[in-house]
Amino acid sequence: MCDVIGKAHELSRRQLLKQAGATAAVAAAGAAVPGAAFGRSTPGDNGAGQAITARAAGCRTQLVLLGVLGGPLLDTNMHGISSAVQVEDKIYVVDCGEGSWSQYRRAFAPESPYTQTLSQLRSVFLTHLHSDHTVDYNNLLVLGGPNGLSARAANPVQVYGPGERGSLPPVYPPGRPAPPVMAPQDPTPGIATTTTRIFEAYSSDLNDRMRDAGQPDPRTRILAHDIPLPASVIANANVDPAPDMQPISVYEDEVVKVSATLVNHRPTFPSFGFRFDTADGSIVFSGDTAPEKNLVELAKGADILVHEAIDPNWIASLFPNPNEPTAEAIIHHLLTAHTTIEQVGVVAQEAGVKTLVLNHINAGTSHGRWMQAKENFSGEVIVGEDLMRVGVGRRHRRSSEVIYR
Ligand SMILES: [Zn+2]
Ligand SMILES: [Zn+2]
Repeated sequence: MCDVIGKAHELSRRQLLKQAGATAAVAAAGAAVPGAAFGRSTPGDNGAGQAITARAAGCRTQLVLLGVLGGPLLDTNMHGISSAVQVEDKIYVVDCGEGSWSQYRRAFAPESPYTQTLSQLRSVFLTHLHSDHTVDYNNLLVLGGPNGLSARAANPVQVYGPGERGSLPPVYPPGRPAPPVMAPQDPTPGIATTTTRIFEAYSSDLNDRMRDAGQPDPRTRILAHDIPLPASVIANANVDPAPDMQPISVYEDEVVKVSATLVNHRPTFPSFGFRFDTADGSIVFSGDTAPEKNLVELAKGADILVHEAIDPNWIASLFPNPNEPTAEAIIHHLLTAHTTIEQVGVVAQEAGVKTLVLNHINAGTSHGRWMQAKENFSGEVIVGEDLMRVGVGRRHRRSSEVIYR
């Protein structure tokens, strides 16, 4: 196993600040960083994305990137993190960042009657409960009915996501006064309880629509499930949130099988990576994670690994004073709970995947800088863009006709 995998959380604060300080100095030098162009937010302004999307035409199974922006910051060129797997006319969504459902309509149903926008949505998978991955989940719950779910009494959308964390994360840096606790009666709910609470938060609107507009109860159209961890997986959220484990089965239907593993996105727990296996090939999503052995195991031999990536030079550019306590806490999270451009190629190489697709990327880093992931990976590297499609397996002119391998 390479040096970077599993080691991120062993970095000391001094090392982190030294690293941040070093990259800040490089960023301050501007042109000294190959390909760096902080301030712009167009990772794919070279037309590469259009060619990749065109190449996907005719593939029965496709990865569709709805939004590729990572983190809670808003951007003018990229929507929040959200992806889809399309197998023929069946659609599965992974994460629901900002704008995910308007992007879904652009990708899958731009000309459809509004009441059919979500007709083909099978299931939703949430990697973890950070808001940049879930902020548009409430839009599915509340707006889903009028946009196609009301007609689906017999086949509700199934949602799979993390269960309860079980305890609050520690305050960082150690010794900082603890902030007040939100909802102290139940401060770390899983997706099932979160779903109930969102419905309740919108009760004024939802009761109105059920009583006055004849809408069905939305709780019958979307069913949320906490992903259970096997008893054999002993995970302590505040000690080791991703102990070594074998992938677990989460979902299966006639065209796709979905499995999951714990990844290291401390202090967030549980955090999952997902693998989709279809008759055409396999697509793996890292979720948010530091370089992680479980993820490498999940991704072994996959056709596509969709992996998060962060540019440490960008982190440094955000924090000219990395020793300030708040900056130190954020830098610590960004460098220990995510995967840098330099690390992500190593992960893909170790997993032996064919294609690495970078998503959950930060704004302001150039296409050329992201492509430096190629230095550690012998396969194809694709820098994700909103609405990009990447095909899996053979292309078909029609469903029964293969046009090339
Ligand atoms: Zn994120
Ligand atoms: Zn996260």
